[in-house]
Amino acid sequence: MKEDFYEILGVSKNATPAEIKKGYRQMAIKYHPDKNPGDKAAEEKFKKAAEAYEILSDENKKARYDQYGHAAFEGGHGGGGFGGGGMNMDDIFSQFGDIFGGGGFGGGFGGFGGGARGRARVKGSNLRIRVKLTLEEIANGVEKKVKVRRKVMAEGATYKTCTNCNGSGQVMRITNTILGRMQSASTCPTCHGAGEVLDKKPKNADDSGLVQKEETVSIKIPAGVTEGVQLKVNGKGNAAPGNNGVDGDLIVVVEEVAHDTLKREGTNLHYDLYINFSEAVLGESKNIDTVSGKVKIKIEPGTQSGKILRLRGKGLPSIDHYGTGDLLVHINVWTPQELSKEQKAFFENMKDDKNFEPSPSKLDKSFFEKVKDMFS
Ligand SMILES: [Zn+2]
Repeated sequence: MKEDFYEILGVSKNATPAEIKKGYRQMAIKYHPDKNPGDKAAEEKFKKAAEAYEILSDENKKARYDQYGHAAFEGGHGGGGFGGGGMNMDDIFSQFGDIFGGGGFGGGFGGFGGGARGRARVKGSNLRIRVKLTLEEIANGVEKKVKVRRKVMAEGATYKTCTNCNGSGQVMRITNTILGRMQSASTCPTCHGAGEVLDKKPKNADDSGLVQKEETVSIKIPAGVTEGVQLKVNGKGNAAPGNNGVDGDLIVVVEEVAHDTLKREGTNLHYDLYINFSEAVLGESKNIDTVSGKVKIKIEPGTQSGKILRLRGKGLPSIDHYGTGDLLVHINVWTPQELSKEQKAFFENMKDDKNFEPSPSKLDKSFFEKVKDMFS
């Protein structure tokens, strides 16, 4: 049988939030591991108090506890309380900011309750580059080789363990708090958490033992990317100094180069085709641009201006692999603007000819209907 959370904190069932907080403070001070070194019973009580406070300080959890008791957090009620096994010390100390104000309690208890903290892995800074891509490259995906100036460890640079923190990357401080004398950890100011410092500095290196170096980096760009998409190449940013650091990343920002004749709209492409009056009347074959080269399309005799031909699958692939878009060819009939005497006479003759009289059928949709169709 689990102990009652209110009893653990030494407060009554109808305690106010302030009283609950106060109760927890008292228990935390009484059973704090620093005041009770090696006392397993105190440690247990310290953890129980934290667990109780975690529930009773949360309005929703408290309501569930008041209604169902411990059963609220033991599955069956959709509890999701402590996932079996209570809180670890890190959780408890992260709670302290709320209780005692200010930080500083965070790292001081390494080694306690199995929560030893390793030294921080120092990471090099990220680099950003922009890569220009044509629609053709976007259509198929491409591997780009780019030159990147990144910081790398200089040849001959050696590192030694930081004597200020003995390689832990953290320094302990003793501070006086309401809990008594408290140990707290902060990042070592000498090595900035790396645990090691530069020993031998080559002439050309900076104070961290790094030099700028131009490197060719190969970037695999998947098909279907769009303007502004950011890709990450792990470990190709600036190196972190020392033997334990992790190199930063290279962030690649995609820039789309405008195409001469194709306009992109998501995965669809649009192409404006201009044909002359005779071609519209008589029909013709025309070459148009696609992202995979020229394609011949057939213009039927009697084609109206504004007609849209849809070439399925000739657009761009979706980056999520949800198929490929279409290429929409917009037919524009070019009306001649200057005519010879003979041409003028011909058209004047035809003006009242019944073959030249507009008679749109239901099949000849208006511009607006076509647009509606395209997006449905
Ligand atoms: Zn250090």
